[in-house]
Amino acid sequence: MMQIFMPLNFLGFVYREMKGAFASIEHMFELLTLKPKVVDPENAQPLTVAAGRIVFDKVCFSYNDDRPILRNLSFVVEPKQKVAIVGASGAGKSTLFKLLFRFYERNSGLISIDGQDIATVTQASLRSALGVVPQDTVLFNGSIVDNIRYGRIEASDNEIQEAINLSHLQPFIEQLPQGWDTLVGERGLKLSGGEKQRVAIARTLLKRPPIWIFDEATSSLDSHAEKSILSAIDTVSSDHTALVIAHRLSTVVNADKIIVLDKGAVVEQGDHLSLLALGGQYAHLWQAQQMGA
Ligand code: ADP
Ligand code: MG
Repeated sequence: MMQIFMPLNFLGFVYREMKGAFASIEHMFELLTLKPKVVDPENAQPLTVAAGRIVFDKVCFSYNDDRPILRNLSFVVEPKQKVAIVGASGAGKSTLFKLLFRFYERNSGLISIDGQDIATVTQASLRSALGVVPQDTVLFNGSIVDNIRYGRIEASDNEIQEAINLSHLQPFIEQLPQGWDTLVGERGLKLSGGEKQRVAIARTLLKRPPIWIFDEATSSLDSHAEKSILSAIDTVSSDHTALVIAHRLSTVVNADKIIVLDKGAVVEQGDHLSLLALGGQYAHLWQAQQMGA
């Protein structure tokens, strides 16, 4: 069992690390062929995360030299804050996360976590501090519980049960024929998008990263599933620094801070009510989505 499980887990780990920042297979391919490769500096130190404070300070970045993608991007995420990043498609949200993961090197400016420049720490330590709940969670053929345990192999059954409760998976698991031993995958159970995302939340809970990143996919869910995921996110992120990419503004109303990106720069930031009062881009986006809803 262990012999089969370990390589699967390793592959899954690599895949998951990449999946966090990329939505599609094309993007994964792009990552694998990425040049020049980001390398650890010779004297790279492991990142030590105490509080989980993230700073972007005047970050500039372009994929090609001709077109700036992030332009003097500055913002601060205070420890244990829940911060949402919103903005039109192409604004640079995913790029920002790729830089935070150091899949790409910024051109100038500073990105730091708890005062440590992320370019000076080992990439392994950086990525283990960041827990991602991706848009499309990949489950392997195996039981539900193995799929969750893979967040931290040595977790106890009690810890797994706690993660299941916090991620609102219990009602789903209770109605399965073999409970959490029910097999998923090709010849087993098929999970909905929302159920898979809750498995990802449970996995990440077990991993216990100090910094959470939700690449939100709730726009494809019905409102009941969306609500359930949102309350799961609220529960788990209360103790952690959390960044949420939001497509639907209803999901960011409770964020401590909402950062509005436009063409690679921060144009507005604040909480929901102050941004509405500002009457700018966020207020317009909000009105447009209320009309569409
Ligand atoms: P968002 O996530 O806000 O939709 P992205 O960060 O994905 O935006 O993209 C910002 C801009 O960068 C877009 O114009 C996009 O076309 C461009 N872009 C994204 N990835 C690459 C890449 N690998 N090479 C060149 N341009 C890219
Ligand atoms: Mg994106």
